[in-house]
Amino acid sequence: MVELKGKTSTINNSYSERCESALEQTFLSVPFYKSWKQYDKGGAFTFAERMAALPILTKKDIRANIPHGFIVDKYKCKEGFASGEIEMESTSGTSEERVSVVWYQNWWNYSEREAARLNPVLNSIFARPHREAILTSPTCSGNLCHVGESSMDERVIGNLLFLNQTSDPTAWDDRNIRRMAEEIKSFQPDILEADPAYLAIFSRSNLTAGHELYQPKCIVLTYEFPSHMHYRQIHRAFPGVPVVSSYGSTETGHVFTQCEAGAFHQNTATCYVDFQPLRKEFGNTNVGRILVSSLENPWFVLLRYDIGDLVLIRDGVKCSCGRSQGLIIDGIEGRVRDITFDTKGHVVTLKRLDVALESVETLSGYKVVQTERRRYTMHYSVDSESTRNVGNVLLEILHNLYGKDAVIDISPNSALTPEQSGKFQLACSINDLYPGELF
Ligand SMILES: [Zn+2]
Repeated sequence: MVELKGKTSTINNSYSERCESALEQTFLSVPFYKSWKQYDKGGAFTFAERMAALPILTKKDIRANIPHGFIVDKYKCKEGFASGEIEMESTSGTSEERVSVVWYQNWWNYSEREAARLNPVLNSIFARPHREAILTSPTCSGNLCHVGESSMDERVIGNLLFLNQTSDPTAWDDRNIRRMAEEIKSFQPDILEADPAYLAIFSRSNLTAGHELYQPKCIVLTYEFPSHMHYRQIHRAFPGVPVVSSYGSTETGHVFTQCEAGAFHQNTATCYVDFQPLRKEFGNTNVGRILVSSLENPWFVLLRYDIGDLVLIRDGVKCSCGRSQGLIIDGIEGRVRDITFDTKGHVVTLKRLDVALESVETLSGYKVVQTERRRYTMHYSVDSESTRNVGNVLLEILHNLYGKDAVIDISPNSALTPEQSGKFQLACSINDLYPGELF
């Protein structure tokens, strides 16, 4: 057992040894981290303690040192690119979030396969050749860009069909919706992998138009935070289809997979995860950020990479599925940049806000913006015209969440559109309300 800042995570010997050996090798042979050796506490300490003493890798570090800084010495960058074994790839997100990474397809495939083992439905699909249809921002899928008009054949790459060709899914018209529904029917994917916001819009539009939808064996939600309003629409359009949430990034590969019991298990084959709790003054210390270290990828070695997301760690209770290796978390809480604060200065994660709003069944979109320590604006859209008092309901929910002394403007807004990155931001605070370290 290894102590992680008071939380326990089971690391069996082989995993622990693998992590330690990877760390030693990284200090010795990966240029960017050679100077990090000075911070290493050494073998007398637990692996978690050694890791906790190291600096944090930021996107700025990656931008300044990519690609050579993160490639194991003996691997020759020029040859890797020339042979096509690796390529440069850009991540999605806002311009501050975006970085280039060295993309090693073989490692990505390995990471994806190992992550699938953490859920029995996914595992059985991945055990044999299968097809996946992908519904997300057309620029989110690595370097692939499918904005515009291209034939279905042009958007099939191997076993993958990329469905979307429009930057803003709120601009889909019935022709787009019908085309994608027909393509899914003709492609017959085993998995529909989707950005939850996009799939929710697609689901709702199909239900409204009365199109018959092909039912895949499994839906995998990834790319951005899945809200209750997304799940509601998706379950209506795909009744009985298992929906699994998968968490990772272009930089880190697949990090957590939701198991059959609903918890998220760490993919110990290709990563190690540090958990850093929120400081006590900001609220629940079972909520924190994760720092991801990659394993087994000589072309892009990450140590304690701040991925920018928050999780809720499971405190001491085992998962009923029986899996125990690595971190177990109860859920992804949203991005750090989606944090708002209650009037006492405690962090309200996007997940907590979303849970509070779950009872408003007609909600189809929202964005809460905090502008001052006690001032908030909520923009929202609803499915139905018949819910004229929804504004009052929302006001009461937000007062319960943020504080009775909160000053809240509620604003109906039929045009909640994604950010330039293609992702929808559901909450944020502006003006640096609580400067200083959150963790
Ligand atoms: Zn489990």
